[in-house]
Amino acid sequence: MAHQKSILVTGGAGFLGSHLCDRLIAQGHEVICLDNFFTGNKRNIEHLIGNPRFEFIRHDVTFPLYLEVEEIYNLACPASPVNYQHDPVQTTKTSVHGAINMLGLAKRLRCRIFQASTSEVYGDPSVHPQTEGYWGNVNPIGPRSCYDEGKRCAETLFFDYHRQHNIEIKVARIFNTYGPRMHPNDGRVVSNFVVQALKGDPITIYGEGKQTRSFCYVDDLIEGFVRLMNSPSDVTGPINLGNPGEFTIKELAELAIEMTGSKSKLTYVALPQDDPQQRQPDISLAKKTLGWEPNIPLREGLARTIRYFDKLLSEKD
Ligand code: NAD
Ligand code: UDP
Ligand code: UDP
Repeated sequence: MAHQKSILVTGGAGFLGSHLCDRLIAQGHEVICLDNFFTGNKRNIEHLIGNPRFEFIRHDVTFPLYLEVEEIYNLACPASPVNYQHDPVQTTKTSVHGAINMLGLAKRLRCRIFQASTSEVYGDPSVHPQTEGYWGNVNPIGPRSCYDEGKRCAETLFFDYHRQHNIEIKVARIFNTYGPRMHPNDGRVVSNFVVQALKGDPITIYGEGKQTRSFCYVDDLIEGFVRLMNSPSDVTGPINLGNPGEFTIKELAELAIEMTGSKSKLTYVALPQDDPQQRQPDISLAKKTLGWEPNIPLREGLARTIRYFDKLLSEKD
């Protein structure tokens, strides 16, 4: 087995963070999971409590943190538009002050640090599919800006700490990812459609549903995280991680209805401001540098996600 490390995961009680904690624990590492429970949930990590290699800290990354670890994965930040727009100032603080604190920690410890960046740095893209060389089309003052610009500034900080202080950085640009442990009410499209279909509620399509997204199943993404973190020192990213399979939102709605056998009807509501029209990762760089590509097609990932929400909803009844 590889060297056992002590690893900090910020945002570790969230959707992606909890799956990452599982993977690192399964690999034999010691995990310190940090979260302020803004959008995360104790339920996501309850099965790890009591494991002697797992420790939880309730903390907000916008405040300094002093501890000793060998690697840092920085995931803390609400990811759903509904959640990140709920308190936009806190969202920017989480990305920017959070990045400064975690980079300061990495600088003191001389350790590697991974940043969960996002396809949102490309904004409403005019280049399709998106390559890492594209600088993006982002509104700096709109309702999504707190997230998009916060993440862009975090990338700037990562690259300046790398150039100025020689910190080893790993920046992943994550495209829409879904799977078990998404919060049922967090407002993202896959959780919304699956929960609505299972309940027989109307499926809420924003706009005409012609906008596209490319959906990656969580297990594939976490494999990409770990490969990127363990890549040679000169691999800094930014590197796209996502599934290139592109679907319209209407297609996703129809698939959710079909796969749940639901009687839900489609309902059309207003398209939110600055909603990107299309999004698809070019993952050539990840394939070449990390030997990584996703393996789980949308139908299979959705089937697993439907089983998770079906169980969750039946427990609530
Ligand atoms: P999530 O909302 O489930 O998880 C985020 C976690 O961060 C939550 O547990 C939340 O409580 C915690 N958090 C928020 N603010 C914090 C703070 N100030 N201090 C400490 N903890 C804080 O979302 P997710 O989908 O798991 O996203 C994880 C990361 O991946 C985020 O940085 C997000 O921007 C990024 N990302 C996710 C996707 C996706 O499709 N899931 C896409 C692009 C980027
Ligand atoms: N920091 C932290 N833990 C550490 C070291 C630093 O939280 O172990 C924070 C601290 O708040 C600091 C920030 O990271 O302000 C940036 O650290 P850096 O060393 O870059 O800058 P400075 O200490 O000079 O402000
Ligand atoms: N969307 C939708 N109905 C919903 C939730 C989202 O039509 O109930 C659309 C949304 O307008 C966007 C896409 O689905 O075009 C993806 O939205 P999500 O919030 O999951 O992530 P985004 O990629 O926009 O950050």
